[in-house]
Amino acid sequence: MAKVVCVLYDDPVDGYPTKYARDGLPKLDRYPGGQTLPTPKAIDFEPGVLLGSASGELGLRKFLESAGHSLVVTSDKDGPASIFERELVDAEIVISQPFWPAYLTEERIAKASRLKLAITAGIGSDHVDLQAAMDRGITVAEVTYCNSISVSEHVIMMILGLVRNYIPSYQWVVKGGWNIADCVARSYDIEGMQIGTVGAGRIGSAVLRRLKPFDVKLHYTDRHRLPEAVEKELGVTFHKDPASMVGVCDVVTINAPLHPETENLFDETMIARMKRGAYLVNTARGKICNRDAIARALESGQLAGYAGDVWFPQPAPKDHPWRSMPHHGMTPHISGSSLSAQARYAAGTREILECWFEGRPIREEYLIVDGGKLAGAGAHSYSAGDATRGSEEAARFKARSDPR
Ligand code: NDP
Repeated sequence: MAKVVCVLYDDPVDGYPTKYARDGLPKLDRYPGGQTLPTPKAIDFEPGVLLGSASGELGLRKFLESAGHSLVVTSDKDGPASIFERELVDAEIVISQPFWPAYLTEERIAKASRLKLAITAGIGSDHVDLQAAMDRGITVAEVTYCNSISVSEHVIMMILGLVRNYIPSYQWVVKGGWNIADCVARSYDIEGMQIGTVGAGRIGSAVLRRLKPFDVKLHYTDRHRLPEAVEKELGVTFHKDPASMVGVCDVVTINAPLHPETENLFDETMIARMKRGAYLVNTARGKICNRDAIARALESGQLAGYAGDVWFPQPAPKDHPWRSMPHHGMTPHISGSSLSAQARYAAGTREILECWFEGRPIREEYLIVDGGKLAGAGAHSYSAGDATRGSEEAARFKARSDPR
């Protein structure tokens, strides 16, 4: 029987919800493009409830325990004295969400001698040292597409929020003011702007589709080109790499995975190629952008705004410069963890577990590493290597800040 360790974010500060803002969720039949939603044999949760926090347990306890497996759920994930690090040593399966990532570094993988499967309840498995997973024959799987549309909606919100200067204007109202000039002195329309995405996969192309009706001019760069018919339909211009795209854009949105090729991609040099006063929206991974270069570019005015929900490490230390830099619209990592998305990735996690225990193949599109190499979605979108370096800094959040 397997020991499963599941790392989830903390419950709300005022307790696990007993009621919700809405009743139920809209029913979706398929993802755009036809991929089916998760297909577990059953689920033991009500779609629309909070599943991603510790008490939600991704709705997995009954399923696992009734089959004789053991489940440990914890939010205590960082540092050598954490519950995660203690429980990892004899775990067969680790489940973690990118929002509150249980970093599986080479050192941790070396301690976890029984570890065979690392599931990302979400999308983006860069919190696992993929090279070490390959070397140790650990399977890494994620729930491809589960929250891609959720993130694309967030990207649109953030682009509009920055360009139209929403957050400072909202703050004037809360402060009791009516300071129209203060609000509009940094407020523009996106109509007519040039907007480009780095990565035109599931999220990036959903962003392009959602932007089209705003009468903007669209651009993208990706390792694989979109079909010609899609380029025509969206009226989107392809650029061979980010460096050749960013200079024409008023807004750049990053929608590529974090892997050695994209780590630190938006450094001082790349940002200097951008138009003065461009906006950058990054909901992909914090480490794709250089922490200090972003803060400096906002201070100097090279960037007019930066928004996103991804940081490195996560949780970000209280003194992380992105908390205090000017003209930012940062949130904690939430865009892919709406209640709507949670229902899908909890069901997808269960589907992966059912396949694992029954010896059935995990869907090809869910695989990142398998059989000692990049596989499935991982073989298409990632490059080999490790992007977890520096993740031990996440322990500083617990040590030095009070989240409540
Ligand atoms: P997809 O795999 O569908 O798309 C990723 C795209 O990025 C692919 O088209 C891929 O290219 C492209 N890409 C990879 N490397 C590069 C590169 N060096 N330069 C340009 N493009 C590149 O994934 P999704 O769109 O669903 O998700 C993308 C990322 O967004 C995830 O990996 C994750 O990091 C992040 N994410 C964030 C969430 C959040 O809550 N904030 C939630 C979900 C995802 P190709 O496949 O053609 O090689």
